Amino acid sequence: MPAQPVALSVVIPIYNEEANLPLLHQRLSQVMQGLGQSYELIFVNDGSRDQSLALVKALAQTDAQVKYVDLSRNFGHQIAVSAGLDRTLGRHVVIIDADLQDPPELIVPMYQKTQHEGYEVVYAKRKKRQGESWLKLLTAKWFYRILANITSIHIPVDTGDFRIMDRRVVEALRQMPEANKFLRGQISWIGYRQTFVEYERGERHGGKTGYTYSKMIRLALNGVTAFSDFPIKIVTFLGFTVSLFAFLMILWTFFVKYFTNIEVEKGWTSLMVAIMFIGGVQLIGLGILGEYVSRINTDARRRPLYFVRETNIEAN
Ligand code: UDP
Ligand code: MG
Repeated sequence: MPAQPVALSVVIPIYNEEANLPLLHQRLSQVMQGLGQSYELIFVNDGSRDQSLALVKALAQTDAQVKYVDLSRNFGHQIAVSAGLDRTLGRHVVIIDADLQDPPELIVPMYQKTQHEGYEVVYAKRKKRQGESWLKLLTAKWFYRILANITSIHIPVDTGDFRIMDRRVVEALRQMPEANKFLRGQISWIGYRQTFVEYERGERHGGKTGYTYSKMIRLALNGVTAFSDFPIKIVTFLGFTVSLFAFLMILWTFFVKYFTNIEVEKGWTSLMVAIMFIGGVQLIGLGILGEYVSRINTDARRRPLYFVRETNIEAN
């Protein structure tokens, strides 16, 4: 029997969220019932090491709207969301964090904008962000601003993945095969009519963040490499600048050797400076190229993005 289409699908990536699941389910269900549309809640367990999966399965026992996908290990937030999107049926699809930093109640105005104002994407823009480390706030602030400046597409600043999308956008997203995902950028790139609603982002309800600094840096690099060649251009620019300087220095050394009587014996400092500087610039350049090459490498292997251990969603 083919699965019935529903009006709204909600995708919720889960990594060690046992402290948040009961309240999340309660608030989400209330909001969705308030909208008076058919809906499904798709929980994607991204290799949690706590009782999250057991809790989700228990919810599925009593609530027919609850569906789950249990991934074979921790694949990271972006892949977990993608795995959920792959299994949605809704005419509109919501992506929301499990820790209640994204208030489920905001789905109402977001959905209204798709219904009455004809938008295909409505994302949630953080007006204020509380309860996170100053380093995270500062790096996030600067990251989004730099990214906005070096990419040719319009990636909104201060926006996470909390949003609602039309089915067409979801299908477009699913045609983008890159393994290193930066969904918020990809969705901007896709186009259609997009707008936002603002909200104040609070603290996590319970538990602690699953986004380590290394995961954050990887996400940031995915965003930059997927949408900008600016870093490569910087390397080229640096290369030309250093070469020009080197050329002038060569002329100078020949001049000293053939047209003056200056004895250069204590050249150690200038030699060291030159070697170190050029060595550093070269290594940085290689590193930048490497970030791009490693992503080509990952995509060239064409591995599946994730594996599923268990799910209660019928194949369709
Ligand atoms: N998450 C995930 N896999 C991970 C890390 C996080 O599925 O490897 C989920 C997490 O359960 C939450 C969402 O992604 O629903 C956002 O994560 P988190 O709240 O830890 O990030 P932060 O808000 O601190 O940036
Ligand atoms: Mg969070």
